[in-house]
Amino acid sequence: MLPGTWRVVFSSSGDLAPERAAVRGSGLRSRLWTEAAWRPLRIAIDSIAAVVLPSDCRICNRALVQLSRIPVCTECLNSLTPADVTACSVCGEALGFRSSGSETLCGVCRRAHPRFDFALSFGSYDGALRRLVHLLKYEQFRPAANVLGAKLAEVLRGSEFAADRPALVIPVPLHPSKRRQRGFNQSELIARRAVQNLGGSRFELHPGNLRRGRATLSQTGLTSHQRRENVRGAFIVTAPARVKDRNVVIIDDVYTTGTTLNECARVLRAAGARQIAVATVARVYRAVAEIVLHEVSNQERHAAALVEAAAG
Ligand SMILES: [Zn+2]
Ligand SMILES: [Zn+2]
Repeated sequence: MLPGTWRVVFSSSGDLAPERAAVRGSGLRSRLWTEAAWRPLRIAIDSIAAVVLPSDCRICNRALVQLSRIPVCTECLNSLTPADVTACSVCGEALGFRSSGSETLCGVCRRAHPRFDFALSFGSYDGALRRLVHLLKYEQFRPAANVLGAKLAEVLRGSEFAADRPALVIPVPLHPSKRRQRGFNQSELIARRAVQNLGGSRFELHPGNLRRGRATLSQTGLTSHQRRENVRGAFIVTAPARVKDRNVVIIDDVYTTGTTLNECARVLRAAGARQIAVATVARVYRAVAEIVLHEVSNQERHAAALVEAAAG
């Protein structure tokens, strides 16, 4: 099989984006209707094709010997391990020392406490975990969200958060234009799968409770001040009465600088949320931040470019 065939043939993102249909002029409504009607069938075909056709593992490049809904081998999936760090008890950043105390704060949290109470993450944003996030986000293998959601569920299950009463689970929303472009919100897929894994009534999924009111720039490459300005006022709590006095878990795929999650926490706090945790599958620890943010591999760059091109 030629390299890249998976992505091109089976990506469900290949649907014509509505914007492109609009550019082509007449018959917009019927075209949109047709696309909407075909989308579930297209997704079903993609899923079947991904199961029955062999490929190489997209992480280690060895041939897959088992049927799988994502092109990743069992060894690579088993290599996903929790981060082994001594973390700041508030923001979760790795500390450069081992602590014997129960509450240890990093320098940043000492200077200014975030708007959330604490941050939870499964693992470091590198290696197989990073590739899985990219498979979901840029190459649109939605079943990768099942694996990532299960890992997030492990973290939430092991925390004492919301042990006394159910918590609202709110994924970081995408702006509608971005969601249309990608076809889904990866954070919502992960959150949904995590809540399914957790079962019971301790966590309730409320994806509609937070909305992104305006599109924002990518946070990559911005200074910390620019990042805060970029997202300030971007989020709206749609039903404050449902948030008031509730514990909330805000879900995202990756914790990079925490600016976006902090802004979500700010508006939820203003709406009366009681305790607020942020939970992500992966975390950029500062020690590896330089590598992760600046050494994007050619393959990932190419995959991201294909998604952008498909979306017009
Ligand atoms: Zn592999
Ligand atoms: Zn901290």
